[in-house]
Amino acid sequence: MTEKEYCNVADYFGENVFNDSVMQARLPKKVYKKLHEVMEEGRELDLETADVVAHEMKEWAIEKGATHYTHWFQPLTGVTAEKHDAFITAPMENGKVLLSFSGKELIKGESDASSFPSGGLRATFEARGYTAWDCTSPAFVRQDAAGATLCIPTAFCSYTGEALDQKTPLLRSMEAINEQALRLLRLFGNTTSKRVTPSVGPEQEYFLVDREKYLQRKDLIFTGRTLFGAMPPKGQEMDDHYFGSIRERIAAYMRDVNVELWKLGVSAKTQHNEAAPAQHELAPIYAPANIAVDHNQLIMETLKKVAGRHGLHCLLHEKPFAGVNGSGKHDNWSITTDDGINLLDPGKTPHDNIQFLLVLTCILKAVDIHADLLREAAADVGNDHRLGANEAPPAIISVFLGEQLEDVLTQLISTGSATHSLKGQKLETGVKAIPDFMMDAADRNRTSPFAFTGNKFEFRMVGAMDSVAQPNVVLNTIVAEAFKEACDELEASSNFDLAVHDLIKKYATEHQRIVFNGDGYSEEWVKEAERRGLPNMRTMVDAIPALNTPKAVALFEKFGVFTKSELDSRVEIEYELYSKEINIEAKAMIDIATKQIIPAVIRYTTVLAKSINEVRAACGADVSVQTDMLMEVSTLLADTKKALVKLEEVTKVAATVPQGREQAVYYRDEVTSAMEALRAPVDKLEMLVDKSMWPMPSYGDLIFEV
Ligand code: ADP
Ligand code: MG
Repeated sequence: MTEKEYCNVADYFGENVFNDSVMQARLPKKVYKKLHEVMEEGRELDLETADVVAHEMKEWAIEKGATHYTHWFQPLTGVTAEKHDAFITAPMENGKVLLSFSGKELIKGESDASSFPSGGLRATFEARGYTAWDCTSPAFVRQDAAGATLCIPTAFCSYTGEALDQKTPLLRSMEAINEQALRLLRLFGNTTSKRVTPSVGPEQEYFLVDREKYLQRKDLIFTGRTLFGAMPPKGQEMDDHYFGSIRERIAAYMRDVNVELWKLGVSAKTQHNEAAPAQHELAPIYAPANIAVDHNQLIMETLKKVAGRHGLHCLLHEKPFAGVNGSGKHDNWSITTDDGINLLDPGKTPHDNIQFLLVLTCILKAVDIHADLLREAAADVGNDHRLGANEAPPAIISVFLGEQLEDVLTQLISTGSATHSLKGQKLETGVKAIPDFMMDAADRNRTSPFAFTGNKFEFRMVGAMDSVAQPNVVLNTIVAEAFKEACDELEASSNFDLAVHDLIKKYATEHQRIVFNGDGYSEEWVKEAERRGLPNMRTMVDAIPALNTPKAVALFEKFGVFTKSELDSRVEIEYELYSKEINIEAKAMIDIATKQIIPAVIRYTTVLAKSINEVRAACGADVSVQTDMLMEVSTLLADTKKALVKLEEVTKVAATVPQGREQAVYYRDEVTSAMEALRAPVDKLEMLVDKSMWPMPSYGDLIFEV
């Protein structure tokens, strides 16, 4: 691509997407209209229409070089899955083949459900599973080394209709919030909005390391994070990487990533260096929740794929390096109508925006009641190293509102009505050439897990590797429930103005404990949260039970988002996932310690011993330095061996513990602590052993020399 072509983004943005304008141009008017009705009203697509759409889609894809198509879906493995089929049909008598793609193939696929996690929903012999086209998320052609493939975003269900993926519950939750939000809008006299959609903008953090060095680190290869590694002399204490100028190699990479994403219609918008060295961020422009979830998967895939081309490797793990900031994914969330009203927009004077105050207090109520579910939605194995562990946000859910809204809330609670809103101050720069400007009415709080940021909430707990589907399923459903309860009451009341006023005050008062504007990283907050009775679930294993409490089952069943058996199955899957991942980490540690680290340290002790003997024999000089070092290294080597034996023992025992919760608890309590105990002496050894003899690149090599 030439510089000029690159700059004309409008020319190639979305060129690989079967989007609305392509459909309008290529589909017969009647078919286009029918498809739109299906998309907008969620009706069933008839086979006749599907046939026409499929045919055009195939023709278009072939023009883009596609030979295959795939139903692209998101099983509960955390990554996307696909099975490719060529467009060819059985050879004809003359030996030639036709290229075809039918409506049936477009809307429904069959997949072996037994090979994906199902948490007991599917026995291996009940293998049938279906993928069904989510026509609200457009099909696209993906080009890579394997050629081009037409990808059709789908939902994945079992033969009996249970959701086996991230997408199905997400679509169900979007329906739930749509219905309840419309009810609420009607109560406020809105008769024009037809649909309410949650909008989502996920900011993606990631690390880039040199690929050659990555290949020398078995821990990164097997687990995505370093299991050993001493801190370099310089960490991130200088804060010189955050928003720092982007180095050329990285800039070239980002440019390629952007082009790939833009062609796929992903509106990659913001890119910058993050807090830690070698850490970066990419944020797209927000989109309807289901599209945003698909796009986030494409972003993660693209970040990884393009890295290879630049001799880099992209790490999406939540904590690739101990002692250095980890990576998260900020889930920005708001609710918008089809005619452009953002229900989370407070306007200039929030105190007299009754609709906004009701929406806001409903959200406070939802988050307070279901804090455990929201916390669970952000739980994954890697995130345990962030939330409430070595870095924040804490594992405690609280809501940051900012000064202006908190003041309005205080007025409401104390006097029953709010009469004024704090205004933003004028920011005087003291520089003539820079005009003074009005500041926002509220500052930001980076330590809050759930922060109001002007016209949206930002859920900051999600892990970098995790799908954003589940957090949004939870947000949509808990807010739908709060809206429903409010509407039930308001619709039944004879005096709407009075009733809504009372309701806002009631919610604000009853749920004020969830609001916290202070420093979420502090120890005092942990104590204060405990006093307030807010849950503090430090690990994934602590959080999992939230998924199928009677409260959660009632919530999700009420809105048809999950059945009890779907929730039970997800609980099983999560425990299994936890145990499996920790088991892989433990085994990788054992392998690396046994085959790489201990042999290297032994070699080094031999060098020291030789030096002691030879120097002494040569001239009788002082060998106390070598001797001290040999003693120190040998002691640490013995500690390492002891810790290794212990880790081997507990890992063996773990395999015999009954699967499910019991096994996950064992892995968390026994195995992870044995892993830490092994890491400690090894990291000390790394600081002592001759660098040329250490068997893998150091933290310094990995994060400062990209
Ligand atoms: P930051 O919060 O880091 O200052 P931005 O305000 O630019 O950054 O927003 C970050 C993300 O939030 C982007 O993906 C952006 O598209 C998304 N976003 C902005 N407004 C909304 C909204 N109303 N609803 C959902 N997401 C939004
Ligand atoms: Mg942000």
